[in-house]
Amino acid sequence: MKKIIAIYPGTFDPVTNGHLDIIERASELFNEVVVSIAVNQNKIPMFEKEERLDMLENVTRHLNNVKVDSFEGLLVWYAEKMNANVMIRGLRAVSDFEYEFQMSLTNKKLNPEINTIFMMPNEKYTYLNSSLVRELASYNANVEEFIPPYVMKKLKDKFGY
Ligand code: ADP
Repeated sequence: MKKIIAIYPGTFDPVTNGHLDIIERASELFNEVVVSIAVNQNKIPMFEKEERLDMLENVTRHLNNVKVDSFEGLLVWYAEKMNANVMIRGLRAVSDFEYEFQMSLTNKKLNPEINTIFMMPNEKYTYLNSSLVRELASYNANVEEFIPPYVMKKLKDKFGY
C-alpha cells in the first residue's frame, strides 16, 4: 500500500495540548506526519521560529513517525515538495468551518491529488487556541492545563513568572 505522508501546518505560537492531541492521533493514522510551521512575514509571532521548532521537537519526541519542519509560501507547493498526500487541519467549532472550507477547495484546485483531512480534538480542547494562551500568559495567569510542561517552562522564561 502507498505510504501516506501527512503535513500538519500551523503557526504553533506556541504549541498547545489541542495541537498535540491532533498530532498524537494523526501519528496513529498516517505513516509519517510532518508538523510544519507556516512562516508568515506579515505576522509578528511571540516566539521566534527557532523557539517554536524547539518546542514542537520536544513535545513530539515520543512519536517516532513525527517530524518537525517549517515552510514559506503556498502550502500545496510545500506538500508537493515533501511528497505528502494529505494535509491535516483541526476543526474546533463551526466558526472554523467557513475559512477551512474555502482553503480546502482552493488547495484541491491547485492539486487534486492532495486531500485535506479534518480532525476534531478531544472535546476538552475545542475552545483552546494559541492566542488565548498568549493572552493569559501575558497577565501571568496560570495556563498549565492548556500546554505541555516544556512549553510552560518556555512561557515562564519569557514572562518571568
Ligand atoms: P491557533 O493559533 O488557532 O492555535 P494554528 O495556526 O497554530 O492556530 O493552528 C494550526 C492548526 O491546528 C489549525 O488547523 C487549527 O484549526 C488547529 N488547532 C489549533 N488549536 C486546536 C485545538 N485546540 N484543537 C484542534 N485543532 C486545533
